[in-house]
Amino acid sequence: MWIDTHCHLDAPEFDADRVAVVRRARAAGVTRCVLPAVRAADFDRVRELAQEFDAAYALGIHPLVVDGADEADLDRLRDALRAGAQDPRLVAVGEIGLDHFVPGLDRERQQRFYLAQLKLARDAGLPVILHVRRSADALLHGLRRIGASGGIAHAFNGSEVQARQFIDRGLRLGFGGAMTFERARQIRALASGLPETALVLETDAPDMPPQWLYRTAAERAGGAVSRNEPAELPRIGAVLAALRGCSVDDAARFTGANALAALPRLAAVPWRTAPAAAAQAPTSDAGHG
Ligand SMILES: [Zn+2]
Repeated sequence: MWIDTHCHLDAPEFDADRVAVVRRARAAGVTRCVLPAVRAADFDRVRELAQEFDAAYALGIHPLVVDGADEADLDRLRDALRAGAQDPRLVAVGEIGLDHFVPGLDRERQQRFYLAQLKLARDAGLPVILHVRRSADALLHGLRRIGASGGIAHAFNGSEVQARQFIDRGLRLGFGGAMTFERARQIRALASGLPETALVLETDAPDMPPQWLYRTAAERAGGAVSRNEPAELPRIGAVLAALRGCSVDDAARFTGANALAALPRLAAVPWRTAPAAAAQAPTSDAGHG
């Protein structure tokens, strides 16, 4: 069983063929996906999609949309977390965090939304799914100040020292498409060298296409599409296995177990799709619908 711990199935990139995307994921053995919301206006949609496609979801306000969000959105998050307190498919608060890479963002505002959402997660007893970009130390500072019930530092790209600090605070680190590029030396070194209990897999679909789906800006300008999807997870997992010198089955087993440990409610979701049944499902009808 493969678990995609981070998949934006609600993104408009999937509007034309969402059903086929989910079927391909199932056929590939990816039977568990977590759909993190990025803005309050999407909370209902993400919850509905999780129900419709037998997935799990997380609720949060992404640092890249904080400049367009207002205080009322934090109230919406608080209300949605209360309303979902008994919903087993709601497994985390996310995607929240800090982005110190994209220029022109209001850092002080990002920080305020990050800390407020950490508090909401702590009060709800939910783990967090963190966006980390040139912001690992500031994120860690917030975690030390507010506390958190574990979670995932998604698309992790910090140093080994920072990685170990997240692990020491009970978080797992998410690895995905970036790890498939040979030039991503730092990320590949972390994926191969960190303890196996620290790693979870994710696609971040439709973003972060793996190396075999990557198209250059020039190719995209010429009409080429570079879309990631959850069916790519096993191949990304095979790259992790190769980097660590373990079997692909082993990588599926330990990353799946770590995802369940990071997001404990995942184990209680009343799945309609059993992993074994999904693996045996005929693939001849994949692509219809
Ligand atoms: Zn994301």
